[in-house]
Parts: sequence; structure tokens; C-alpha cells
Amino acid sequence: MIEAVVAGLAGLLIGSFLNVCIYRLPRDLSVVAPRSHCPKCEEPIAWYDNIPVVSYLALRARCRKCGWRIPVRYPLVELATGALFFLAVYLNGLSPVAVKQCVFAALMVELAVSDLETMILPDEFTLGGALLGLAFAFWAPIEPGIVTLLLGGRLGPVGASVAESLVGAVFSAGALSFVAWLYEKARGREGLGLGDVKLIGLMGAFLGLHNTLFALILGSVAGSIIGLGWALVRRKSIATTEMPYGTFLCAGALVVAFVRPYAG
Ligand SMILES: [Zn+2]
Repeated sequence: MIEAVVAGLAGLLIGSFLNVCIYRLPRDLSVVAPRSHCPKCEEPIAWYDNIPVVSYLALRARCRKCGWRIPVRYPLVELATGALFFLAVYLNGLSPVAVKQCVFAALMVELAVSDLETMILPDEFTLGGALLGLAFAFWAPIEPGIVTLLLGGRLGPVGASVAESLVGAVFSAGALSFVAWLYEKARGREGLGLGDVKLIGLMGAFLGLHNTLFALILGSVAGSIIGLGWALVRRKSIATTEMPYGTFLCAGALVVAFVRPYAG
């Protein structure tokens, strides 16, 4: 329990860094320098005004200097990351699976919110995340799937896990590229971007092929229902409603990753 609480606190800090990434990466700014400042008055933010969630409440959501309204996204991202880190360690103890879940959760929170706010899925997180997923396959094995079924005997457990990760990344990204191509042919406009394809590749590298397909179905169904509801409320056509598809994919992948952890 105490480990889970410490993980949750670490998650709050990581969430604070994710907020920086969400703001800066789509604008091609460095996430390291300069240190945090108010986007409006550019005043550097003192450490005591930069404590996750606490400072937001203490400042009543305003910049101390200019009164700029801090978006509620900041504490929400911190809380979501903290809660997911807590859950990962609470459910799995301090284990490779828990560490892998924490890293995956951080990637998903950043990408979900980035897509929602800017419609951009930064390569640092999609491609960088896919490489991380591949690296994790050596240490925290992926649930056996089609590769293990066909070649498991020859590859051994670690080899099979890494192969599942590779196949998951390549085939998921390939399948979504095909769907995107079909959609464009049928509708004459782009429905899915290259960012979505890289995102699904990252999920494949972490979760393997069949779990990524679960995530895809879950995200698509949820996205369609919410998109349709949104279009009805706004009295707009569903065909012209811009959907942050990546956000729903990330949500689906988080559910799959936490409901179906695989501990080797
Ligand atoms: Zn300010």
C-alpha cells in the first residue's frame, strides 16, 4: 500500500511534466529549457506555485502575477497520472508489470490530451513510446498471442515476447494504414492521420496484436457513441464533426492494459 501511495505521488510529478510536454511539443519548443513560465505574462513560475494540484487550488486557478486563468487540464492531467500510477502498483506490487503499466499510462495520458487539445500526436511519444514498448518486451513479457502459438517453441519465452511486440507494432500500424486508405478512397477525405497509425504501432509494441485489436474496438465504439451524441447535441452532421480519434484509442488502450495485465 505504501509503495502504491509513493507511486501515486511520483505520478503527480510525472503528470506535471506531461503538462509541459502537452503544451510545448506541438509548438516545437524544448521540454527542458526554459523552466516553467506563465504562457501569458512569461513570468517564471516559482517552485511553490508549481506543486501538482496543490498550487492550482492555492492560486485559485490564476497566475500569481497576471491573473491568467490556468486551464483545468493541468490538475486533471496530474490527478489522472497519479491515479494510474497508484493503481498500477496497488494491483501488481512493485514489479516489472507495474513499471511497464506506469510508463504506458504516462504515454497514453499525454497523447490523449495532446490529440484532444491540438489534434497532434507528437513523434517523441508515439515513435519513442513504440521503442520503449519493444524494450519492455524483454523485461516484462507480453501476453502470448499468435506468434507464441506458431513459433513459441523455437523462440523461447523472451524471444517470443519480443516477437509479439514487433508483430503487434507492425501489424497494428499496417492494419490501421489500410483502414485509413480505404476510408479516404470511400469518403474522399482523410479520416485518420499518420499520427494515429504511429499511435496504434506504439500500442501494439506494448500490448501485442490481439490486445491492441481489443483496444481499437473499444476506442472506436466509445468514440462513435460519444461522437454521435456530440453531433446530436450540437445539431451538426456526424460527417463533418472532427473527432479526436487518438483520444478514444488511448482510453481504450488504458482500459485493456489495466484490465488485462500479464505477469509472465
Ligand atoms: Zn501570468
